Amino acid sequence: MTSLLAKYAAKLAATGLIAPGDVLMAALDDELISALLLARPSGVYQAVMAELARQALADGSASITPGDCETRTFLHDLPVVDGLSAEGVVQALRQRKGCVILHKGEALVASFGTVSPEQAYVTMSSMCFACFVAYFAEHLRRARLGTLTPERRAAFSRVTALLPLDRGEIDGMPDLLPGPFESEDAAREAMIQAGRHTVEYGLVDSYFGNISYRLGDTILISQTGSSLDELGPCIDPCRLDGSSCAGITASSEYSAHKAVYEAEMAGAGARAILHGHPRFSVILSLDCERLDCPNLGECHRACDTPRAVVDDSCGLSVPIVPGEVGTGPFGLCNTLPPALNATTGGKRGAIVYGHGLFTLGAADFRDAFASLMDVEHFCRAEYFRRVAELGG
Ligand SMILES: [Zn+2]
Repeated sequence: MTSLLAKYAAKLAATGLIAPGDVLMAALDDELISALLLARPSGVYQAVMAELARQALADGSASITPGDCETRTFLHDLPVVDGLSAEGVVQALRQRKGCVILHKGEALVASFGTVSPEQAYVTMSSMCFACFVAYFAEHLRRARLGTLTPERRAAFSRVTALLPLDRGEIDGMPDLLPGPFESEDAAREAMIQAGRHTVEYGLVDSYFGNISYRLGDTILISQTGSSLDELGPCIDPCRLDGSSCAGITASSEYSAHKAVYEAEMAGAGARAILHGHPRFSVILSLDCERLDCPNLGECHRACDTPRAVVDDSCGLSVPIVPGEVGTGPFGLCNTLPPALNATTGGKRGAIVYGHGLFTLGAADFRDAFASLMDVEHFCRAEYFRRVAELGG
């Protein structure tokens, strides 16, 4: 148990969410293993969480309500506790998987797991993602509405000064295995490698995202709930004709992957799909000029405005589509495949509103990964261009 706690503490530091040592983890190793985590987020995460917590306590809501899909489905809103006290934290954790504590001007995070310490880690990491997206999306929305105050502008410069550089800008592309892969072993090795780099480059939190590769009439796909940076045995082979599929454990987005490959086999023939939740791609997907749209509040499933992220200088055109996780009537299995299959050129991808980015690779994950990195890089620059243009 101690080594598990140490593993997740180290993972929080490795992903830059905390400074090494700024986390306390405790576990009760009984029949069920329940774990508790208390951490001090660092850098830009500290800044956005403290700012959102201050605002939530000032407006009396005492909760942060992010608009991204990961949070909607996984965490709901995030309660904010005023001051570090056992009673306050216990009360908040009775309602939710985690909470933000504003203590002496600093943000702390408490979360718990009922069956493993991993749950507490995943909640903490999702909360950092949610707050990051919520803060930057809200700033741009207010810039559009003309409701930015001098205080908010000052906080924004403090926060953005803490933004780390894109990993891609520092290190460039990782060296990924060249395809096409002709054996299951080779394809698995490439998937494990691409998954690990997607997490290491900050393009997804490890518990989310998914990856697949088509080998003849079989789709190899990451399992639901697997950690993208530790795929190992967590890859399922699914036959396109449905004759054999570890369907129970395959990613919840398997049906979308399958529909994409079926259309590709009659078209451009892409063999790889990579899906991450890059922050600025998600934030830009939440930004819309139609402030009086009748579908407002239903954007994640009912948006009917054709939208895209477009960079004319390098021929980048990435559609933004609505779509819920899963196979319901508003499921992204209906909206994503036609959008993705209609893309052309060397950088093929589509953003699902408030959720994440899916990219295609012709024969391996090199172009899929490059697209993921390049779209996020462009979205980050485009975000700050829009804020500046709106006087934010
Ligand atoms: Zn996703």
